Amino acid sequence: MTPVVALVGRPNVGKSTLFNRLTRSRDALVADFPGLTRDRKYGQAKVGEMEFIVVDTGGIDGSEEGIELKMAEQSLLAIEEADVVLFLVDARAGVTPGDIVIAHHLRRQQKKVFLVANKTDGIDADSVVGDFYELGLGDIYQIAAAHGRGVHSLLEQALTPY
Ligand code: GDP
Ligand code: MG
Repeated sequence: MTPVVALVGRPNVGKSTLFNRLTRSRDALVADFPGLTRDRKYGQAKVGEMEFIVVDTGGIDGSEEGIELKMAEQSLLAIEEADVVLFLVDARAGVTPGDIVIAHHLRRQQKKVFLVANKTDGIDADSVVGDFYELGLGDIYQIAAAHGRGVHSLLEQALTPY
């Protein structure tokens, strides 16, 4: 079975940028993959030799009322059908209340979650990403989705058992 990787996180952290990079040069949006519903955006991804399905989500704004409902409606479904969850945060913004809410939900899932600090280009990332340990999701993977930095290495870690 082709593994399914879900991209979750607040709006504007770079989920769609990563989605586009992972699916670049594959025009195939996945329309007819068994078991996947269509109200989230699916793409067929290839990174090096690794092939997988990637799911983009609209983003969760943790400051909203009804966050749990939003999670349930969109991202929880994506998370549920995923083998691996990439939880994106913005290295430049630091930890936000929305990140904390999302992390809380993810910690309760029985899913493999990778905490991904995006937008690490042009900043001293090592000195800022340490703050994200407070989200309680373990290691922090540094990437710059817009440039591709760190993406191959992240996916190698995330897809190792598949
Ligand atoms: P989404 O709402 O999570 O899907 O975020 P988008 O992919 O739409 O990106 C939001 C903004 O962040 C856009 O202006 C992107 O160009 C920018 N962005 C995404 N990835 C990077 C990155 O690696 N570095 C920088 N500097 N900006 C990025
Ligand atoms: Mg988006």
